Amino acid sequence: MRGGRLGAQGGGLRRPLPPPTTMAAHKKIIKIDEKITLNTLAGKMSLKATDVLMKLLGMGMTGVNINTTLDADTAKILASEFGWEVSDVAVSEEDAIKEARGEETAIDADLELRPPVVTVMGHVDHGKTSLLDFIRKTTVASGEACGITQHIGAYRVKTSRGEVAFLDTPGHEAFTQMRARGAQVTDIVILVVAADDGVMPQTREAVNHARAAHVPLVVAVNKCDKPEADPSRPRRELMAMELVPEELGGDTMFVDVSAKTGQGIDELLEAISLQAEVLELRASPKKPGHGTVIEAMLDRGKGPVARILVRDGTVAVGDILLAGSAWGKIRAMTDENGRSVAKAGPSTPVEVLGLSDVPNAGDPIDVVKDPKKAQELAESRGARQKRSIMPATAKVSLEDLAKRVAESGQLELRLIVKADVQGSVEAVSDALQKLSTDKVRVSIVHSAVGAITEGDVNLAAASKAIIIGFNVRPAGKASSLAETEQVEIRSYNIIYNAVDEVKKAMAGLLAPTIVEKFLGRAEVRQVFNITKIGTVAGCLVVDGTIKRAASKVRLVRDSVQVWEGKISGLRHIKEDKREIEKGFECGISLEGYNDIKPGDAIECYDVEERAATL
Ligand code: GDP
Repeated sequence: MRGGRLGAQGGGLRRPLPPPTTMAAHKKIIKIDEKITLNTLAGKMSLKATDVLMKLLGMGMTGVNINTTLDADTAKILASEFGWEVSDVAVSEEDAIKEARGEETAIDADLELRPPVVTVMGHVDHGKTSLLDFIRKTTVASGEACGITQHIGAYRVKTSRGEVAFLDTPGHEAFTQMRARGAQVTDIVILVVAADDGVMPQTREAVNHARAAHVPLVVAVNKCDKPEADPSRPRRELMAMELVPEELGGDTMFVDVSAKTGQGIDELLEAISLQAEVLELRASPKKPGHGTVIEAMLDRGKGPVARILVRDGTVAVGDILLAGSAWGKIRAMTDENGRSVAKAGPSTPVEVLGLSDVPNAGDPIDVVKDPKKAQELAESRGARQKRSIMPATAKVSLEDLAKRVAESGQLELRLIVKADVQGSVEAVSDALQKLSTDKVRVSIVHSAVGAITEGDVNLAAASKAIIIGFNVRPAGKASSLAETEQVEIRSYNIIYNAVDEVKKAMAGLLAPTIVEKFLGRAEVRQVFNITKIGTVAGCLVVDGTIKRAASKVRLVRDSVQVWEGKISGLRHIKEDKREIEKGFECGISLEGYNDIKPGDAIECYDVEERAATL
């Protein structure tokens, strides 16, 4: 793994591609999918793997051999040295889609304001559903002649200041699930807090979710019709979370409402429109449509049904639509009132029929010109999904972190803290946050009382965080989701242990210092090919001791390392030996490597990893 990336090595190796050679007339292109082994790359260029390896070593790479997997950047630079071009089909999907869309870059004149897309979040029973229902009933259905409202995952309402699109699934799951898939659909979050109950754990969670996604909040203080309502309480409590009401000089809008009587709903819609004006959301209706799948299902009569939200451009009946790994010509579209529509512009939810397959919620949708291209792209996406159980979004990886540290000079360890009581939540969060150093910053994305839920796992996946559970365990499907999403959950019941391990994890983010200790060197005098065993090098130990169990062995030819690995056999006069000292002859075989030549040197080392200190 290490050393397989030129970029991560730093040190000016990212050289510019050489100027086009005369061979350019007939371009030699190798298509790869994210990565390729050196051996395969050499094969595609009809070159000897060792020659390609020599070139790579000559470029300053260490710790590589012919089986090393190269990432696309490294492969590109390396291949260019031999006059070849590497095209990474994985990253070029974006380009392929752009091309398939036939997109001209939108000029500013084409940009128009688009309605905001709103999600309602808040604690259970604080009135999210009631609020959505009320808004929908009063603003959508009443004005419609047909009056049949359909659930299509989202709907638009008219306000005095223009339209607003609401996502119909209240709660945090849908929001984070989409975000975990890389789809940021929401522009504004309405945080519902009941005036008779105040800020509750899921209220805090909602605030943290919205913050993690950098989505502004408008607070709806609900149930103000109740005699015991105390609208000042949510304000006070949210101020403790740094959400300061506008009337107190802050920048968060608070609106007192009742989903039962309808009190304040107009003001709430007004506040959303105001917030949207601040955001200046623009889109270009002239472009081919682009958006997100909100829900999708297989209908017995209609076939695959996708409920989509158009984000930009326009989607029309008859268009070729690519939706995740599904595609098709749009046969029909309906709006939230069950009426068929011919086209849908920015921030419009519609239900579309005609896809080949059922896409996933959160999948991107794009209108493309050519059905063949759509099919190709859909199939390559499908194949990639099948190939990797890993989600498409990159999760926390060391490589990733190394890149980030290179960019920002500082690493960040993101945590979600769940504990049994509020006191522990605070104590654990505090203790962990205090671990921040110049090199690694600890940030708590979310902390709350309660078991570790699927919502926590989705948030962790979306924000690349690790979950710390203190006296609490994963509930429901959280464990299995964590497994598929590759989210790390650590449980503790002693604060000291949590702190200690997080400290270790932080140190783990820093690459360990690798210290090599030279053990011995042998010179290859003769080479024997023995059936079933492979190549055995008859050597003389010229320095130190050759150890069978040495952690690292290098094969050096003309002062250049051609291979690195382990010894698979060490013998002295037909007897297996653990070590051979200077001055003695021995037979050495290398694990999985046979290309040994007389005159080569075999060097062995012990490798000590010293954990980096914070
Ligand atoms: P959700 O879990 O956040 O979606 O909450 P619901 O919308 O299901 O509401 C929970 C309960 O609170 C229901 O019994 C509603 O009737 C009631 N409720 C919701 N909003 C209001 C309100 O503004 N005033 C009163 N009095 N009750 C409300």
